[in-house]
Amino acid sequence: MLEQDIKKVLISEDELQAKAVELGEVLTNDYAGKNPLVVGILKGSVPFLADLIKRIDAHLEMDFMVVSSYHGGTSSSGEVKLIKDLDTSVEGRDILIVEDIIDTGRTLKYLAELLEHRKANSVKIVTLLDKPEGRVVEIDADYVGFQVPNEFVVGYGLDFDENYRNLPYIGVLKEEIYQ
Ligand code: 5GP
Ligand code: MG
Ligand code: MG
Repeated sequence: MLEQDIKKVLISEDELQAKAVELGEVLTNDYAGKNPLVVGILKGSVPFLADLIKRIDAHLEMDFMVVSSYHGGTSSSGEVKLIKDLDTSVEGRDILIVEDIIDTGRTLKYLAELLEHRKANSVKIVTLLDKPEGRVVEIDADYVGFQVPNEFVVGYGLDFDENYRNLPYIGVLKEEIYQ
């Protein structure tokens, strides 16, 4: 069904699972003895966050934010708006932002600055995917799962018009789907 809309698979289900284990081990070490607040950016980060936190062997809390930058379609509008804020105070906390992908960098720059302004003790970013060629503002993730080429990708949380988030892998859509 969904698979017939996919031109090619970029990252397989096995590779995604292995990456969650690998990053989880690194984060377990880096957050040993801390009590990080893991901040998932809805909705794209949900599958990655769910797999990742199971591999972090540390006390942690989790909370979520909603921001908008893409309004459907495949290109960014350029402005970032906060739609749903955290329920948890960030002052003095070690924050780990979990994102699906960094493209222009606008979303994460906005969020990292917001949380720093609220006097977090530390703000770090883990992103499943990084598209370095798309960057228009200067920001880098502290932990990156995979670098991807400058193509519109879907699956494992990433949508096209709110669809395809439930694909178990990361793929590229056939052109006819978004024409
Ligand atoms: P940025 O602010 O870095 O340009 O964009 C971040 C957001 O844009 C991501 O969290 C994601 O929601 C969306 N985005 C950027 N590139 C892609 C892509 O290739 N595929 C999908 N589905 N969403 C993308
Ligand atoms: Mg996102
Ligand atoms: Mg989207």
